[in-house]
Amino acid sequence: MNPITQLKAKLPSPLRRLADLAYNYWWSWTPDRMSLFSTIEPTIWQNCYHNPVALIEAVSYERLSQIAEDPHYLKRLQVLANQFDTYMRDQKTWGSQAVPDLSPEEPVAYFCLEYGLHESLYVYCGGLGVLAGDYLKSASDLGVPMVGVGLLYKQGYVCQRLNRSGWQEDFYRSNDFDHMPLELVRDEYGQPVTVKVTVRQRTVRVQAWKARVGRVDLYLLDADRSDNDPIDRKLTGQLYSGNRETRLAQQILLGIGGVQLLHTLEIEPAIYHINEGSSAFALLEVVRQEMEYSGSTFEEARNWVRDRSVFTTHTPVSDGNDAFSADMMDSFFGHYWPQLELAREEFLHLGARRIGDPWEPFSLTVLALRLTRQANGVSRRHGEVSRQMWQILYPDQAQDSVPIGYVTNGAHLRSWTAPLLADLYGQYLGHDWAHYFANADRWSKVDLQSASTIWHKVDSIPDRELWHRHCILKERLIAYTRARVLASRLERKEAKDDILAIERLLDPNVLTLGFARRFSPYKRGALLFKDLQQAIRIFSHARRPIQIIFAGKARSGDDEGKRIIQRLMEWCRHPALRDRVAFIEDYDMFTAKLMVHGVDVWLNTPRRPTEACGTSGQKAAFNGVINCSVLDGWWCEAYQAGSINQPANGWVIGEAVDTSDQELQDQIDADALYTLLERDITPLFYDRDRNGIPHKWIAMMKASIRTNAPNFNSDRMVSDYVTQAYRQESAHEMNVKAGQVA
Ligand SMILES: *Cc1c(COP(=O)(O)O)cnc(C)c1O
Repeated sequence: MNPITQLKAKLPSPLRRLADLAYNYWWSWTPDRMSLFSTIEPTIWQNCYHNPVALIEAVSYERLSQIAEDPHYLKRLQVLANQFDTYMRDQKTWGSQAVPDLSPEEPVAYFCLEYGLHESLYVYCGGLGVLAGDYLKSASDLGVPMVGVGLLYKQGYVCQRLNRSGWQEDFYRSNDFDHMPLELVRDEYGQPVTVKVTVRQRTVRVQAWKARVGRVDLYLLDADRSDNDPIDRKLTGQLYSGNRETRLAQQILLGIGGVQLLHTLEIEPAIYHINEGSSAFALLEVVRQEMEYSGSTFEEARNWVRDRSVFTTHTPVSDGNDAFSADMMDSFFGHYWPQLELAREEFLHLGARRIGDPWEPFSLTVLALRLTRQANGVSRRHGEVSRQMWQILYPDQAQDSVPIGYVTNGAHLRSWTAPLLADLYGQYLGHDWAHYFANADRWSKVDLQSASTIWHKVDSIPDRELWHRHCILKERLIAYTRARVLASRLERKEAKDDILAIERLLDPNVLTLGFARRFSPYKRGALLFKDLQQAIRIFSHARRPIQIIFAGKARSGDDEGKRIIQRLMEWCRHPALRDRVAFIEDYDMFTAKLMVHGVDVWLNTPRRPTEACGTSGQKAAFNGVINCSVLDGWWCEAYQAGSINQPANGWVIGEAVDTSDQELQDQIDADALYTLLERDITPLFYDRDRNGIPHKWIAMMKASIRTNAPNFNSDRMVSDYVTQAYRQESAHEMNVKAGQVA
């Protein structure tokens, strides 16, 4: 029996529709998401980390029967179920007009190594995964036929715990797929559908689980089957933890296994979208299949594949791009290149930056660039950086005519806007504020002008109302931060005084900064404390103090990143800072939501130009949080300086000096940040009217929403991919936009 039917059988009949909602992540971005499941049993809801299937299974039948007699709840459920049905059945979507050639049988196939859909499905690490999740949600909302392909990691990504000395200890939690909104894909006889992939001369059978993301299906491959070798079963054990061999094996399962799965399910993608080089092996397998089925040569098949594939690169740091030694490629692909009718050297050339150099590793970014017709970076700036980085592949072309364009990333508005603010936008911007792209009747092509018109109405929201809601969100964040920090202190068995001091941690009236991202040295998470004395002066200013909330993990093997966290923990304990600096352990999408909803300023301090795009600042902007960032990634496009009539929409930290002296650059940026805080940011925040409302601050909040929300959201991003990359006739538009014409 299908698991949705099974779950229905556990529910009293008036509640049966809950099972349909529980098995589709659509619920997680509806405005009514807050109480739908949590009302049933708030404690269990919290304990099962907002997984609706686990909740329904755990709640007593008595309690369910009680709810089934609550007319108010039943009414809400019915409204929601009707909305869901309308959404799923809608035939007149934006996508049906923009890409009529695509269909559920011939969709876009989107490949990515990680997906961040919701905190309850922990198979993501960070920005790349959350972006992929937001991408599928917007594709669904816009009605662009799409399937996602990824891996289902038994233990997901690493979890973080800080010990008494502030050192990050890594551990894992196990996912329990049978009690999650996932359906094992089965054939007509009820047997799991499997595909066979050769890894290290052994056959690995992979099965697939389907997650429903609105109208989009996401297939997640799983090697943990009893008929596999015990070592191979662990291939889908953890995300980004294994050695290079495991990583290569995972990428083979994703690319080669993923393409085979779609073929087995009789899905024939019209477009293959490779999101980051790690899924590029998919393209090889499409070439192989094309040769097998149409009898074409490698060259013919490769041209055929190039014509229907798109590659997005995300990494501006060259060692971040996956590359494997020729030895490893020999042992993993020795059986494979003959099937492509290639000699070993010809095969290795596909991934070589410099042809003819025997020591050149096999790079998946290079492979992807050689096998796709369209390639792009993820912001205007990152497009430039990528053209510079990869010019080596195009020796006959000038740097600015290297065929890599850009589509700037965006975040999913409906997932990342706090319901409390979504409600306010509904009142003042109109009901359609979050769906203006999706309305096929009004705009056949996405129309930024009209979107801007809608968002201009943000100015009509009374300052008091916006401020009031912002303050509620801030208080929620502070309460959450205290609860999390308290739990950590208890777990570390800290001294009683330190535990009681939690009452003084953070003050809702104080200007609050947020910094949450991976702790890699190049993100400079400790820049604010570069000069401790200056920092203390600013934090503990008598009338205009500041405070900050940090969150983020370091990669398992990254001791330098772990040392940054350790230093931050020292400042959390410093007598002059301990009430003003907080660190929330184990950053994930749930903490991310609370933070981007509730801080006043979102801080970003990467070394230029290492921020490919950055999406957390976009999420913050949807909620009226103001960005204070180094000019890099998306901020290069988004930042608008103020004028006489218009406030600025945020702040820019420092200036790039022409130097390779990182220490000097850090000093310049830290000084600039201190000046900004003292001269501009804190005076503006504490400038209040008689009722305590900071009107000039709110003017900047509104500018942040008005200028960023219409542009840096994932509907705009998906529609850009559709018009610039997916449509055949627009194949060259992206490169034209980048200032290059073929
Ligand atoms: C949005 C998000 C990120 C990415 O943020 P960046 O600004 O790109 O660093 C990482 N992790 C989580 C949990 C997120 O929600």
